[in-house]
Amino acid sequence: MHEVAQSPWVAFAYLVAGVCFILALRGLSHPATSRRGNRLGMAGMAIAVVTTLVTHVPVIVDVLPPGAVGLDDWAKPRVDWVPVVEILAAIALGAVIGLTTARRIAMTAMPQLVAAFHSLVGLAAVLVGVAAFLNPAAFGIADIVTPMIGQPFAVIHQVSRIELILGVAIGAITFSGSVIAFLKLNSTMSGSPILLPQRHAINLGMALAIAFFAYGFYATQSPLDFWLVTAFAFIIGFLLIVPIGGADMPVVVSMLNSYSGWAAAAMGFTLGNTAMIVTGALVGSSGAILSYIMCRAMNRSFISVIAGGFGAVAGGGAGGEAIDRPWKRGSAEDAAFLMKEAGQVVIVPGYGMAVAQAQHVLREMADKLKEHGVRVKYAIHPVAGRMPGHMNVLLAEANVPYDDVFELEDINADFAQTDVAFVIGANDVTNPAAKTDKSSPIYGMPVLDVEKAGTVLFIKRSMGGVGYAGVDNELFYRDNTMMLLADAKKMVEEIVKALG
Ligand code: NDP
Repeated sequence: MHEVAQSPWVAFAYLVAGVCFILALRGLSHPATSRRGNRLGMAGMAIAVVTTLVTHVPVIVDVLPPGAVGLDDWAKPRVDWVPVVEILAAIALGAVIGLTTARRIAMTAMPQLVAAFHSLVGLAAVLVGVAAFLNPAAFGIADIVTPMIGQPFAVIHQVSRIELILGVAIGAITFSGSVIAFLKLNSTMSGSPILLPQRHAINLGMALAIAFFAYGFYATQSPLDFWLVTAFAFIIGFLLIVPIGGADMPVVVSMLNSYSGWAAAAMGFTLGNTAMIVTGALVGSSGAILSYIMCRAMNRSFISVIAGGFGAVAGGGAGGEAIDRPWKRGSAEDAAFLMKEAGQVVIVPGYGMAVAQAQHVLREMADKLKEHGVRVKYAIHPVAGRMPGHMNVLLAEANVPYDDVFELEDINADFAQTDVAFVIGANDVTNPAAKTDKSSPIYGMPVLDVEKAGTVLFIKRSMGGVGYAGVDNELFYRDNTMMLLADAKKMVEEIVKALG
């Protein structure tokens, strides 16, 4: 297998694939170039898959002839195309499932889909690792030793043992962690932190046990150590994600993305596949950088988030119950009047805009306001919505000019000079409890200072509904706030009508 992998053409094809992936990441860093980035990523993956298939399949079969009984059989060259058919059938099946899922999935369900896909990468790494452990000679990672007495057996190369156990452990953590993230994002499981007593001691114990048995596997190739590492890694993935709640989920999603990359890279070593090592390392490092950026944006310590809900508080804040205080309700006509008279309106989109798919009519509203001479800007919080870049994607889809879109740190100072802050389906990202209430699960996260605007208009469906973190928002009851209670798309359509 390795002889073929070293062919200059194979190396060249993998290099081209690697360059495509790097350019894809570069393209994905801006909405204007993201489509091109996506295409380059697809092209890179197609090159990598075809190269792997064309060059490796017959060789895998050479090494593993069906019905091999004795040592001599291993050396017999043999080409059998049955596995090719199976592989092509598996690819076709996967492609059909992937295509159907991608076409059907609602934009609002994208985060849980991403978490589900991460879990599959983790599971694939574990399965490849188990296959390599059970039949190391077929993967070219072992020497066959023939003892004086008894059957020949495979001794896995020591460096391969490290790659194998690392890939399996990271893959198992990615799998169980992603399954929990999926359940939380899908609201199948409560988004609030579930804090087990002594969880840090338990996690530390688990981590030490994994390190101990992993060393045991490295030193002795013991099957018991291999299976114990796999089992403990599955459990710790679950334990690490269960306590993470509320506002910290975005970091978890990008962190699991990073883990899935490292698991794939480790398996790339086991399979002797350069393209997989490069792709895994790119996913792993870009996911780690994204996690770090998200942590900074949310004022969280990276270590405390990956240590499993460190510093998370049970419940906290004003809770899910709406505070029994007076509040002002407005109509679409009121909102249209206020905004038409304004010098500057800053639109703050959030998850509710994505649910209502209100981005197109929102752009229409902004166009109308501009016709009335109003300056319109969009303020994007780094964790608005349910996935990084969620709002940017939706606004780009509605052809909102990029120059009108501002990040939190560039727009926050503007609110004091803004007549109307128009909050459409955003809640947590505007909640001042993040600045003042130490018991709140979102405490410490930077928020958009919408309350500094002359008037704040809040679109949401009811006073009872809360944001992802499950806490009420004190801004709803302020004197300069007007609540517009309706589905975001319907409300904005009515405002557009009222703007004339
Ligand atoms: P929130 O989840 O805080 O609030 C959403 C708001 O939208 C609620 O007030 C809800 O109220 C309203 N809403 C829902 N549906 C509609 C609708 N059809 N029409 C009008 N309003 C609607 O969203 P934010 O964007 O402010 O904050 C994002 C939160 O999600 C943060 O806590 C963040 O940490 C978390 N998160 C972010 C991820 C990311 O990567 N960006 C990933 C995972 C979690 P009502 O029900 O009353 O209508």
